[in-house]
Amino acid sequence: MTQGALPDVVVIGAGIVGAACAHELAAHGLSVQVVDRAGIGTGTTAAGMGHLVVMDDTPAEFALSAWSRQLWLALAPRLLAKHAFVRCGTVWAAADEEEMAAARVRQHALQVQGIACSMLDAAQLHEAEPALREGLAGGMIVPDDAVVYAPSAAAWLLAQPVAGRIEMRADAQAVAIERHGVRLADGTTVAAGAVLVANGLDATALLAGLPLVPKKGHLLITDRYPGLVRHQILELGYIKSAHQSSGTSVAFNVQPRPTGQLLIGSSRQFDTTDPAVEPAVLARMLRRASQFMPGLPALNALRAWTGFRPATQDGLPLIGPALPGSSSHRSTWLAVGHEGLGVTTALGTARLIAAQMLGQAAPIDAAPYLPARLGSLDNESAPHG
Ligand SMILES: Cc1cc2nc3c(=O)[nH]c(=O)nc-3n(C[C@H](O)[C@H](O)[C@H](O)COP(=O)(O)OP(=O)(O)OC[C@H]3O[C@@H](n4cnc5c(N)ncnc54)[C@H](O)[C@@H]3O)c2cc1C
Repeated sequence: MTQGALPDVVVIGAGIVGAACAHELAAHGLSVQVVDRAGIGTGTTAAGMGHLVVMDDTPAEFALSAWSRQLWLALAPRLLAKHAFVRCGTVWAAADEEEMAAARVRQHALQVQGIACSMLDAAQLHEAEPALREGLAGGMIVPDDAVVYAPSAAAWLLAQPVAGRIEMRADAQAVAIERHGVRLADGTTVAAGAVLVANGLDATALLAGLPLVPKKGHLLITDRYPGLVRHQILELGYIKSAHQSSGTSVAFNVQPRPTGQLLIGSSRQFDTTDPAVEPAVLARMLRRASQFMPGLPALNALRAWTGFRPATQDGLPLIGPALPGSSSHRSTWLAVGHEGLGVTTALGTARLIAAQMLGQAAPIDAAPYLPARLGSLDNESAPHG
């Protein structure tokens, strides 16, 4: 991008998704202007857990999360300590025999699809995670799942030298998509050949009718307890909680940070946009966690916060051209709606967007994530995330 020349693409949003897309487009030689109203990784990306996890509720969720996790593992050797990438693996804990049976089915399905994972009996679970309570039935371990500190990974992606060029503008709020580019709150317009909308939940303010809804989540971080927890541990019931479409649900989910701190989740709530920490929801979440980790109430909590996952009706992100007529710029693209998997799936999303914009083939089928599917969504679709 030469000084004063039009960028090929203006990316709205420098969260993990926008950053990954900008990186990928620039890696293909394009000039990219990123605008963010705040700063890099300050939206939902700053609020999440950064668990890089293969999820398999649907074939499309599996395809994108498994491929994306692979891309993270390939990127990992280039990341620095500050990105806190750790291949800690996921332990899925089964409370009873019924969950154990479900875990066996899941383990088989994942293994058949090439994901390393194995079953743990009760003794092996206890050996893997001694802080879990006695009496759990066992579980499943997925050793290649990992964690990353997403805000700093986003900054890294934007800063890498690539074939093209990325220019980052913070304090630049997009207020409208126009025929030739993006109008900013200061009245100026960033003209570009294409517009990529990657500003998470706030995309609804730019493209009316975009069906994204917020799913509120609480997290809590503790003091340092090195070695107390070794893997990211989730209860198998987490999947049910994650895919619930109404009400409030909680599930045990704990992540060991490289500092020795524990990040504890998770909750899901609909119909609220109030970011306040809700003591009743937090208490319910921690009670649930204590049922799996009885020593948890004795730990020193440092801080709790909330974030809003950008959810779609069918639980899959919107990756591809905006619906015809929904934008005045004829080359408008979407990379939004990643719900509770946006850190995991950012790299795959970026590859899919670049492939579509450049007319190239992608290693996975882009069809399940195309915004065009919204035209055929019905009310019976099961929301998840
Ligand atoms: C509690 C919680 C736990 C989670 N845990 C995980 C997890 O373990 N693993 C995982 O994979 N995912 C997790 N997620 C989900 C993940 O964090 C999100 O899917 C992801 O961060 C979405 O990234 P994004 O880039 O799409 O959006 P955002 O991070 O919200 O980025 C959007 C950016 O756009 C900017 N912006 C907004 N409007 C404008 C505008 N008009 N003009 C300019 N800029 C604008 C914002 O400032 C922001 O920087 C979790 C989420 C929550 C809330």
